[in-house]
Amino acid sequence: MRRALLAFLSCLALQACAPAPPAPPPPPPRPASIEDLFTRLRQSPPEALEDFLKQMPKGADLHSHLSGAVYAEDYLALAAAQNYCISPTYDFTPPENGLCPGGTPVAEFLKSPEKTRAAIAALSMPAASGYADFGAIFRRVTALSQTFRSQMLAAVMKRAQSQNILYLELMLTPPGMASVTSATPVATPADFDASYQDITIRNKQNLESLLATSTRYLDEMEKETARILNCPGRQFAACPVKIRYQAQIIRYAPTSTVFAQTAFAFALMQRDPRVVGLNMVGPETFLPPETLRLQMDMLANISARYPQTANHNISLHAGELPQSRLADPEAPPLTPITDAVETAHATRIGHGLSINREINEAALLWHMAQNHICVELALTSNASLMRVTPALSPFETYRAHHVPITLATDDEGLFRSPLSHEYALAARQYALTYAETKTLSRNSLEYAFLPGKSLWQRSDYTAPLPACTDMASPACAAAVAPSPKATLQRQLELRLTAFEAAALRP
Ligand SMILES: [Zn+2]
Repeated sequence: MRRALLAFLSCLALQACAPAPPAPPPPPPRPASIEDLFTRLRQSPPEALEDFLKQMPKGADLHSHLSGAVYAEDYLALAAAQNYCISPTYDFTPPENGLCPGGTPVAEFLKSPEKTRAAIAALSMPAASGYADFGAIFRRVTALSQTFRSQMLAAVMKRAQSQNILYLELMLTPPGMASVTSATPVATPADFDASYQDITIRNKQNLESLLATSTRYLDEMEKETARILNCPGRQFAACPVKIRYQAQIIRYAPTSTVFAQTAFAFALMQRDPRVVGLNMVGPETFLPPETLRLQMDMLANISARYPQTANHNISLHAGELPQSRLADPEAPPLTPITDAVETAHATRIGHGLSINREINEAALLWHMAQNHICVELALTSNASLMRVTPALSPFETYRAHHVPITLATDDEGLFRSPLSHEYALAARQYALTYAETKTLSRNSLEYAFLPGKSLWQRSDYTAPLPACTDMASPACAAAVAPSPKATLQRQLELRLTAFEAAALRP
């Protein structure tokens, strides 16, 4: 990939790709600026732009589900290393007494390139294939994804590093959270108090024990990951990509379970600083509007129980609806983003596809821009699952109304779409300038749930902290040190400066 960019630059500099004499046209001048270079790359063969964007430092991927982030090749390698079996329908199972009844040892299976190719296809999303295939892939890898979290995390971090990503905010459901329940049915907001008492007071001991289980789980996963990646001193904090988590609540569970998991997620956020936010996940397509509204009421009710100073970060999958529904002129107007923002007080929105169908679109866009509510757009995921292609995506709507946007992969491994590719799709589809592309990268740290003050005094990134007019200065390093967010933002700025200089170097 690097070669593609070098070849492109050589073409610009040396005219190596121009027709031979007798009368060669004068060589095009070297790009005068990074904007100039980016414009040329956008109009060049895709490889050169992808290569440039792979090397470009990208702050974060804020919308990434750990189980979906792993590529088929990584799952297969992991399964082979653990002596797992694979069935004719590509389900992974642990061996029984060293044997694979009804299946084949994965290591044996991988000896056939043809079978390997078929397995990779079966464990990845073909383009625009819909939700049924998506669910089937997750079921095939369940035995692996629930058991080998450290290996998965290590694979995801390695890929992020190769993409020049500094930070991942991974969504996962820790085991303690998966087992929390409420004995009290939750059918209306009137049931919230009783259920909350049930979970946090009557069953306090159980809650405490499940919270401890979740923290231990993260401890063990991180320790093992640092060992696999051989991070300096085997310390997870010293690994090259910073990792934080969002507690993920699957919205299709019974309402009493969704309520219990939401209460648990808030408690876990207060307990474990690595869990920086929560997310209610899954497209809204399969649930009636009243259930969705009840979920938003749950979030409002539980977050109100915590003081303003507590960790409240909420990002929600909202407006993740298929194109058929979004484009149906007969369908009534929608409110999923409005409800997520106004009722549940989400400060980030995942997908946000329904914006043009929301009842009061203009007011909602104004509110989102004024309150800096960021939209995480996952172009490949939206095209594949919801059939909302980049041409139909609301990117332009959010851009026109100054709502902050960040690009995300959603399920990178399943979609086989690294973050650089998402950037390339956006750059071409929406004719982004380099400055706009850089803003997407900066947004991913500005709107991250990392604690601490921002490096920036203005949301247009024109005014850093006074000590950071020279980002490389020791004064700037000292000024950002107390803030994990600003520390990472400064790192991004330093890397961007170096990257831009290198890209223009003859
Ligand atoms: Zn998602």
